[in-house]
Amino acid sequence: MGRKFFIGGNWKCNGTTEEVKKIVTTLNEAEVPPEDVVEVVVSPPFLFLTLVKSLLRSDFHVAAQNCWVRKGGAFTGEVSAEMLVNLGIPYVILGHSERRLLLGESNDFVGDKVAYALSQGLKVIACVGETLDQRESGSTMDVVAAQTKAIADRISDWTNVVVAYEPVWAIGTGKVATPAQAQEVHSVLRKWLHANVSAEIAGSTRIIYGGSVNGANCKELAAQPDVDGFLVGGASLKPEFVDIIKSAT
Ligand code: PEP
Repeated sequence: MGRKFFIGGNWKCNGTTEEVKKIVTTLNEAEVPPEDVVEVVVSPPFLFLTLVKSLLRSDFHVAAQNCWVRKGGAFTGEVSAEMLVNLGIPYVILGHSERRLLLGESNDFVGDKVAYALSQGLKVIACVGETLDQRESGSTMDVVAAQTKAIADRISDWTNVVVAYEPVWAIGTGKVATPAQAQEVHSVLRKWLHANVSAEIAGSTRIIYGGSVNGANCKELAAQPDVDGFLVGGASLKPEFVDIIKSAT
């Protein structure tokens, strides 16, 4: 199967030029496993994308945190997939729960975005995950399956998709899913891909975990058979991100 471990750093809406340069310096000086063992992608705010790309070591890559759902044009304030491609940005994060919940992005809208971004040649980190209410009412898998189905209905090639399972109750809360909780959802999600997409795609698609991952809890999570890496928020702004990258081995 050979799913290469994937570590994403989502910097969200944080940073000044000086802070961004400092994070990049820390990353550039870090001793981490080689690129054939771990894929590292950091996602600065749009304004810092080209700066980070120009300064960052060549074995690490950058991602945008969003892009417009279709071809660019009269969409004030948006950034199109074509622009990201034009600037040599390889990845985009789509469907993050902060956009789903704060900006009202529906499953269909996220599915359309994923399909369009892929069609333009971007690689996509597609986020799914349930809220605390949904978990407590027992609908975690229904929610995650519906979010994934909206993507699966619109794409046929999953080669450039990484699925990030990010329970909303674990994001930025310090309340990380236990390794067993993460493994359970990842495993059911992989079975969903097997049943609804194909055995090959279920076996090859990376499913990464996000939600309060840090230097202290990453090793145990990384040891779970269906956890293929992490999407890291808060800790990706700190030197401990390097420890999280090292959890790949
Ligand atoms: C995220 O926003 O994708 C995330 C996982 O955040 P944090 O690690 O801060 O919980």
